[in-house]
Amino acid sequence: MFQYTNSEGSQICAECLGSVWGNKDGDIFRASLATTTQIIEKRDMSSVEAGRSPFEQLLHNAWATLDVSDANYLGAYHSHPWTQQEVNNALSAGETEDFFWQASDGPDGDEGSMPDNCIEIILSLRPASTVNPDQYVWQQRGDLISGRIDIVHITFSGWFKNDNGQFSQIAVRGGFLDEVNDKIRNIE
Ligand SMILES: [Zn+2]
Repeated sequence: MFQYTNSEGSQICAECLGSVWGNKDGDIFRASLATTTQIIEKRDMSSVEAGRSPFEQLLHNAWATLDVSDANYLGAYHSHPWTQQEVNNALSAGETEDFFWQASDGPDGDEGSMPDNCIEIILSLRPASTVNPDQYVWQQRGDLISGRIDIVHITFSGWFKNDNGQFSQIAVRGGFLDEVNDKIRNIE
């Protein structure tokens, strides 16, 4: 969904963003639903531009079927999609692997867009060919979760802004990893 060919035949990497719903249990935010609310057509390091969404109708229909009666708003998620060229450029400019999943800080960055007492999940999306194959299996990697689906490698990172507006990275944990690995094995 994040990558498509536009009417001029160019490959476009679209950023998705949406809401995360679930329940809070002490310090643990348990996300059970994530809804996509917007697709961004163009992004650079400092801004994003909302595009005409080809999925608008589909998303509205999907929203209508969701039961969020037992879920609370926990925060948001958004993607950092990278093309092969962008990955190559960043690596040859000396960026490390962290660069692709880090939240940008400051008032104009990811930090600034977060409300207090909410989480933000960032999904870094890279062509799988730009990642070492030992990163393909879905597993916990430090505070991150990552793995491959088809031609895309995805890294989940978690962020939190507290009541005082302090922003920090938090660990992402997933109970779904074995299931994802099994499903991918079955498809392949
Ligand atoms: Zn971001």
